Amino acid sequence: MVITDTHTHLYSEAFDDDRKDMIKRALNQNITRFFIPAIDSTYTKAMLQLEMDFPENVFLMMGLHPTHVKDNCKDELNHVEEMLQKRKFYAIGEIGIDLYWDKSTLGIQQDAFRYQIKLAKQYKLPIVIHCRESFDEIFEILEEEKAEDLFGIFHCFTGTLEQAHRAISYNMKLGIGGVVTFKNGKIDQFLNQIDLKHIVLETDSPYLSPSPYRGKRNESSYIIMVLEKLSEIYKLPQEKIAEITTANSKAIFKV
Ligand SMILES: [Zn+2]
Repeated sequence: MVITDTHTHLYSEAFDDDRKDMIKRALNQNITRFFIPAIDSTYTKAMLQLEMDFPENVFLMMGLHPTHVKDNCKDELNHVEEMLQKRKFYAIGEIGIDLYWDKSTLGIQQDAFRYQIKLAKQYKLPIVIHCRESFDEIFEILEEEKAEDLFGIFHCFTGTLEQAHRAISYNMKLGIGGVVTFKNGKIDQFLNQIDLKHIVLETDSPYLSPSPYRGKRNESSYIIMVLEKLSEIYKLPQEKIAEITTANSKAIFKV
């Protein structure tokens, strides 16, 4: 069995004391593929180090996170582009719009999102979308930019069934993580109406720990709880869920 964590911030300061042990806990449970979303340029060095430490298992993305789109976003976007020119990345992410933390930056968030979608098309890479209280704003841009060569993942999908169908219509897979295990997470109610071919697994660690660790630090090994929940929802063995969602991740990231 191979389990793929399509969204995990393994370079986060939250793991500074036990990073290697934490990653080994995941590897020991067959979680062997880690896709690493970027945040901003301050983390690039730590991401490259992570890849050096686990070259077989770590696959890096490049991008500017919407909550880090600030006054210096031109410099940050230049950094993204420079890195893309320099070496291989597996996706542009995470990118998108976040209106939970800051509504005042909506304009520059929209610009940065559009710009990075163009980079994804130029480099023939998938996008990994961060959407928080911003479905309408995200869909508006996807509607403008939709194309055969635009595809990717709606990371930490927490919308309605209708929003799920709409995301899928833009060539997006749904990243399902800890929220599916929450009592009031809602997506567990309709997920069985979405074909598994549209689903990938993720943790978003160190954030969004699944039950029973909700509120605590998340780590990639906890993806097992997400796998267990999907096995219940789809009435399929965990091995099958792991196999299909790993195949889906390969279709997106081409690795
Ligand atoms: Zn993230």
